Amino acid sequence: MYARALRLIPGGVDSPVRAFGAVGSTPFFVAGAAGPSIFDIDGNAYVDWVQSWGASLLGHADDGVVAAVTDAARRGTSFGTPSPLEVELAELVTTMVPNAERVRFVSSGTEAAMTAIRLARGVTGRSKILKFAGCYHGHTDALLVEAGSGVATLGIPGSPGVTSGTVGDTVVVPYNDIGAAEAAAREIGDDLAAILVEPVAANMGLVLPREGFLEGLRALATELGSLLVFDEVITGFRIGNAGAQGRFGIDADLVLLGKVIGGGMPVGAIAGRADLMEHLAPTGPVYQAGTLSGNPVTMGAGIAVLSRLRDDPSIHDRIQDTGRALVRGLVDAADIAEVPMVASAIGGLAGFFFSDDDVENYEGAAATSPETYGKLFRGLLERGIYFPPSRFEALFISAAHEDGHVDQTVKAAHDVLTS
Ligand code: PLP
Repeated sequence: MYARALRLIPGGVDSPVRAFGAVGSTPFFVAGAAGPSIFDIDGNAYVDWVQSWGASLLGHADDGVVAAVTDAARRGTSFGTPSPLEVELAELVTTMVPNAERVRFVSSGTEAAMTAIRLARGVTGRSKILKFAGCYHGHTDALLVEAGSGVATLGIPGSPGVTSGTVGDTVVVPYNDIGAAEAAAREIGDDLAAILVEPVAANMGLVLPREGFLEGLRALATELGSLLVFDEVITGFRIGNAGAQGRFGIDADLVLLGKVIGGGMPVGAIAGRADLMEHLAPTGPVYQAGTLSGNPVTMGAGIAVLSRLRDDPSIHDRIQDTGRALVRGLVDAADIAEVPMVASAIGGLAGFFFSDDDVENYEGAAATSPETYGKLFRGLLERGIYFPPSRFEALFISAAHEDGHVDQTVKAAHDVLTS
């Protein structure tokens, strides 16, 4: 299948992070998935800690999501005109996400980020965007600089085809370095439209914000009259129903969502205060559009997920406990094998680095050994465990993972690291 794919699709994959080149392997092809497990076309089952890169918070093929998708699809897969499902999902998002008085649904996180920077520039009349090295905001040209995720995995600084003019208004500083952010922001001064950040960085491995970092960005944006944009495409509904804003008690001006809110269907969203969001067309002059935006099948899936999360707060507690148990077990396994490892977990996100020291930014993540990660990845895969095929990605915990999956994973990691 891979050979066939290579003849038809560049690199055999429809998104570069799916290639296994960085871990010295080739991708398996999926026949199906259920709950915490994914099955390849050769009949192998894997415990899946990738979960469609965080899109499946409830686990694969969740009954409620499948029923909602089926029900919606029977009534038509796309209308190109408003449907009540959009209103219902918008109500869930705006009641659960802080500072989200309005929401606009799009079809990917990339579109959400693209819209956010256009809106921030349109509202403020300014040009520059401050972003952080190793933070990924999708593949829109202006943000494809020091972008983490697949860009980091492939070891390229940006991308050919992105002109220096396009990225000329994007300023990049190290994550977790409030001093560098302040210096850069003050130098830009009254031309700074927005500070765009992953409040928990999950595209350079998992890197938590240092105490005071997000607070510092909030203060800086307020002082300079710029917008603070939280990219919660990963953290939204994954580290709690109120996302990183709720977790850290910081108010963002605009919030980007994706992944979880579509239950595995293509989705993105931009949310924020009404006075900002109403600048979007048709109420305002900032143009944004999409044939499949607010797609009824996606909306149905999203409603199934968010209403479950609203009605059962224990889901997040269980997911967080699973993530913490997983990293505790991995660190213990590494300890026994005398391999240095640091790890962290927050909500439904977990991550680790083969490092003696805490990793606080992209430079630290890039200094860790790709060989050790590749060895662990391949060894785990042979033992029926699927970790992300890059050390620059996080582990995604779902509500379908149980203690037994953690034990199985930790035992396999122990075997690989001690072999
Ligand atoms: N923002 C973040 C934080 C992401 O992790 C991603 C994708 O992984 C995106 C934006 C882009 O989303 P999409 O892949 O849906 O375009």
